[in-house]
Amino acid sequence: MRQLRGLSSFVNMVKASDIANPGVRLDDFLGEMKTRKDHGLPIQGDLVTLSQAGVRVYTAHGAKGLEFHSVIIPFCLNNKNWPARPIPEKIRMPSDLFKTRAHIRDKEAQKTLALQDETRLFYVAMTRAKSNLIFTASPTEDLVSSLYLTRLDIPKEGPKISDEEKILEESLEVTDKKDPFVGTDAVLKDMVNNMSLNPTRLNAYITCKRKFLYNDLLKLPGAKKKSLVFGNCVHKALEETYREFMAAKKFPSFKFFLDAFKKELKFQGVDKTDERDCLKKAEAVRGWFETAAKNPVMPVGLERKLVITVGDNIIFTGKYDKVEFEDEKNGIVRILDYKTGKPDEHLKKIDKITDLSSSDCDGYLRQLVCYRLLFEKDRKESRGMRAHSGALVFIEPVESDLRKLGYEKGRHVTKRVEITDPMVQEVEELIKKVWGQVKALDFGKLPCRDAKVCGMCDFDPICWK
Ligand code: SF4
Repeated sequence: MRQLRGLSSFVNMVKASDIANPGVRLDDFLGEMKTRKDHGLPIQGDLVTLSQAGVRVYTAHGAKGLEFHSVIIPFCLNNKNWPARPIPEKIRMPSDLFKTRAHIRDKEAQKTLALQDETRLFYVAMTRAKSNLIFTASPTEDLVSSLYLTRLDIPKEGPKISDEEKILEESLEVTDKKDPFVGTDAVLKDMVNNMSLNPTRLNAYITCKRKFLYNDLLKLPGAKKKSLVFGNCVHKALEETYREFMAAKKFPSFKFFLDAFKKELKFQGVDKTDERDCLKKAEAVRGWFETAAKNPVMPVGLERKLVITVGDNIIFTGKYDKVEFEDEKNGIVRILDYKTGKPDEHLKKIDKITDLSSSDCDGYLRQLVCYRLLFEKDRKESRGMRAHSGALVFIEPVESDLRKLGYEKGRHVTKRVEITDPMVQEVEELIKKVWGQVKALDFGKLPCRDAKVCGMCDFDPICWK
């Protein structure tokens, strides 16, 4: 137990280090450990205490006076644990040594007394449970389950090896079906209860329920995607740039942006090749940045996390990039979302399908509607302001001529989108529907392999090979 506590304390220390210094690398952590050791500082995290949730192990004596929701009394085996086999008296003690037994000379009577002690102890163990009391007994051929179970009218069962083999065989058959979630409902339900929805997760679920399960619920680890790292760094650098603009009332230079980008890139901890590629891409942002710097708009809000409840206490969260005035006199704002990927496909899709629950609808459009919902429902944030529109700010230029849409190759686009009240109501209903499905553990994969979606998915080999 002490070693287990020590191990848990160490894990807590690793967690605390990660919170204090997100993205900390293994060598940094080991360096910190060495410094502590060199200076005689204890290497120890918060101690795991008995007040923490978990399974507690007690002896029946130790549990006296305590109560628990559920109690498991294991190994209810006769003459082994419950009741314990009387310890043979190797050296017979003078019977008049103990007051209570002073007059008991009869061996049978002593046994009865011991059994009564054991029975009282068993009663103590049983009565610690407030709701559930579970006995376990797995007797081998030479052991039989406790006589207490018989007295409690719990049938004594002999070993049934053949049944166990059958169960094992059946469970192997299930494994053969390659559905990794058979029998895990209780665990998944527990995980769902601890999660909240946000615009990205909403989009993920609508794109593929199974991918949502892997990525958002089970959080299966995967390789850090370069595009994601680049996106994170651009967002952080833009946030720093606009914060500086708000403080100094002067828009910073591209160098300021690039320095903030590099700082964040270090923090993301990518390998040298990815680092080089990201820096090259950041240089390419110069064109967009310098155009934006000519006519910068002061933010009303920047990178703020919003939390609202939808319907029957569904927690919905989201973090917008920037909010700026569209009509300051009338308190009308627009919500900006910076996008670092190629704009072409989104620009083609965005006006075409407006049914927000359709998987063909552009996810960026759905996100903007979610942000309006979040912004206006969070009254502390909106302070009476209304967000009638959103804008997708594409940092990368259009890749090819989109003549029908009026965008030529190489142009930087900021796509303004009107967000109407019915769109907000539709997304609210969608959140309720998706949350209902998530709670019902509806995590089916796509009906058949979609090369466009599955080809880009880390889980393609798990789903289809
Ligand atoms: S491979 Fe396809 S079906 Fe499987 S999780 Fe990914 S997107 Fe969904």
